[in-house]
Amino acid sequence: MFLEDTINPGSKSGWIEVICGSMFSGKTEELIRRLKRAEFAKQKVEIFKPNVDTRYAEEEVVSHDENSIRSTPVPSSSNIPILADGVDVVGIDEAQFFDSELVEVCTQLANRGTRVIVAGLDMDYAGKPFGPIPALMAVAEYVTKVHAVCVRCGNLANHSHRLSSSDDLVVLGEKNEYEPLCRSCFYGFKEKNKVV
Ligand code: ZN
Repeated sequence: MFLEDTINPGSKSGWIEVICGSMFSGKTEELIRRLKRAEFAKQKVEIFKPNVDTRYAEEEVVSHDENSIRSTPVPSSSNIPILADGVDVVGIDEAQFFDSELVEVCTQLANRGTRVIVAGLDMDYAGKPFGPIPALMAVAEYVTKVHAVCVRCGNLANHSHRLSSSDDLVVLGEKNEYEPLCRSCFYGFKEKNKVV
């Protein structure tokens, strides 16, 4: 478990945290846990998500266990800096769906003293690095990989296996669309079905 540093009120420096993993790994729950702790500490918190993610309520980051926190959907990462003006902690959910400019946006926010917590899928359904997440992992001070449990063998799962045959990268995370698989079961399935 990531334990937050004590924040030095005299310090002007912010930082970037990345929470990533497969579907059903608890990324959003971990994001909400950190943001709620910041709220308890009387810090000003804002949460953004790409407006492509409309699975549940428009204005809330909602995790699978229905723990939720208010958020603002934005069309592009360039909308975030102005909305985050004067905010102590910026949370970004479903960050894999943002454009590559998100890396620069997070860097600028951290440089001006903001704590930035980014949550998103590290890999897409094909097992490839997803959107701006790999670059964010490179520039972040802290990276937390969370894991699901493989539904076939019970090992640690780090892959999101898509059950439907759609090739669209943006199929949102409904439970019946994906299953978490471990490396062995994921690549075993691909080998057996000759999926590239
Ligand atoms: Zn497995």
